[in-house]
Amino acid sequence: MKLRTVQKQTHIETIPVGPFTVKQPLPAPGLDQVSPFILLHHAGPATHAPGALQARLSPHPHRGFEPVTFLFLGGLHHRDSLGSEGFLQGGDVQWMTAGSGIIHSEGPSAQFAAEGGIMELIQLWVNLPRGNKMTKPKYQDIKADSIPHLELNGFSFRVVAGELAGATGPASTFTPMLAATATFTEGATVELPFDPDWNVLVYVLDGSLQAGAETLAGSNLGVFRTDGEGISLAALSGGRLLLLAGQPISEPMVSYGPFVMNYEGELRKAVLDFHEGRMGVLEA
Ligand code: MN
Repeated sequence: MKLRTVQKQTHIETIPVGPFTVKQPLPAPGLDQVSPFILLHHAGPATHAPGALQARLSPHPHRGFEPVTFLFLGGLHHRDSLGSEGFLQGGDVQWMTAGSGIIHSEGPSAQFAAEGGIMELIQLWVNLPRGNKMTKPKYQDIKADSIPHLELNGFSFRVVAGELAGATGPASTFTPMLAATATFTEGATVELPFDPDWNVLVYVLDGSLQAGAETLAGSNLGVFRTDGEGISLAALSGGRLLLLAGQPISEPMVSYGPFVMNYEGELRKAVLDFHEGRMGVLEA
């Protein structure tokens, strides 16, 4: 198998998002997106004393893409303008389709706020193709025990969406992709084939890996070039990663805050629809 080479992205901005401080490896200067993946935020791991983390992300809208939350540690509560409400615990994933528009709010669960502990999550924005940008909003609440495990040479993958070495994730997606988390032990090595047209990236949460000629350590993003049939990963220590791969969406993309559309006029329409209540209403 001809292996893909890697472009290492080490410029990681740290920005506040409501009550969370997040690392943002994507987008980054010179890297608008790795289509269909358009944003990656990694919050924590951060230890919160009992009662210390109370604040929530205040109600805000989304349109035109899918915000996906991988909760690694902690407890989250969410509610939205559809009237839905739910809780996530460590290992759970929430795959939201914002579609035509939704307003939501999220924050620590009451139990986590009271007891404190370690919170760690990744939020990923997955773009929607033009034909599905205005689809009806929905959630897939994916409980940890419904995510299949796959053991491969010292890598322990959990497949959330798509297919990896015969394991298929529970999330349904609008375009073909793979989303998987993994833990790995020192000395683990794996080669994985991918469609030569697909974009592939690895984000390392902690530990370090050799990916082709590049060493990826904690908070590094490795973007594989489309110059081969697969990827190789060799663990230099124990650690954890997020592996994303997908068929690129070859359409124009523009974004304004929480809206991701194809053309500028559609962004103005999104702002107007939000202000005029056409994405619903959620009281603070
Ligand atoms: Mn949001």
